[in-house]
Amino acid sequence: MTKIAFIGLGNMGSGMCANLVGAGHEVTAFDLSPDAVKQAEAKGAQSAASLGEAVSGAEIVVTMLPAGKHVLEVYFGAEGVTAHAPSTAALIDCSTISVDEAREAADEAKAAGFLMVDAPVSGGTAAANAGTLTFMVGGPDAAFEAAKPFLEIMGKNVFHAGPAGNGQVAKIANNMLLGISMVGTCEAFNLAEKLGLDAQTFFNIASTASGQCWSMTSYCPAPGPVPAAPSNRDYQPGFAVAMMLKDLKLALGAAETAGANVDFGKLAEATYANLSSDGFDGLDFSGVMKRVRGEV
Ligand code: NAD
Repeated sequence: MTKIAFIGLGNMGSGMCANLVGAGHEVTAFDLSPDAVKQAEAKGAQSAASLGEAVSGAEIVVTMLPAGKHVLEVYFGAEGVTAHAPSTAALIDCSTISVDEAREAADEAKAAGFLMVDAPVSGGTAAANAGTLTFMVGGPDAAFEAAKPFLEIMGKNVFHAGPAGNGQVAKIANNMLLGISMVGTCEAFNLAEKLGLDAQTFFNIASTASGQCWSMTSYCPAPGPVPAAPSNRDYQPGFAVAMMLKDLKLALGAAETAGANVDFGKLAEATYANLSSDGFDGLDFSGVMKRVRGEV
């Protein structure tokens, strides 16, 4: 049994924390929201009244926070993890943050004597609850090996992507491709339908032809062919426009730093930014189909 501190009990963190408890570990949970802490307690975690209290004596610290500024504050603020946890604790940040912030965090953790990984996830709340997330991990070998047994409880695939920040690189590059392929899939289904080819027939052909992609076969944005897809429940998320936009912004920022050409990434970002500013943050990201069809 390992002593784990879990910080950030939101949509994703609550299920991940519950799975660590379910595996028999002694988990102490903290969130700025007292309600979130109460819910974690109801699922078998111990509650902490402060961040410092949660991490004191921890062998493992897991964080699942909204953005980079929260991560840097939680780890390195005056009341933060490195000020209160023993330096033998391995630090696992599962939040999606910028590559630069992840590398900054890794450097600061190393300077304070801690092993740390960035371990962002693919998969939404259903995968977080079911313990079937995919983790993309950046950090030195020793940190990866320390984190792996715990990531394997919360996920079904755990990849070591290389040194610090590479987990975030894998995450944003993957999600940029997802954003681009979703817009392309919407345009293809709309074109086919406008020219008299129904969605199911086009799906039967394209899903076994060279246009095949995950956005089509697992998440079809045209209602019908994939019954579990959000397109069949009026594009309720799923993975919301706001979250796709966050990841595309991180990808474009990183591309600028790296001098990488991302023309289609920019088009996808503009598409989701327009949906967001028109009030559709809460729509599933496959809801770009509505825009392509001229419905919103
Ligand atoms: P969320 O907003 O539901 O949860 C974040 C939690 O962190 C909240 O409960 C908040 O109170 C807490 N928090 C914020 N600052 C804190 C602090 N200083 N100390 C303690 N707690 C603090 O967000 P989420 O949907 O769970 O997403 C978490 C991360 O996972 C994000 O980086 C997101 O991009 C990423 N992600 C989300 C999904 C998804 O489908 N929701 C999928 C993949 C990745």
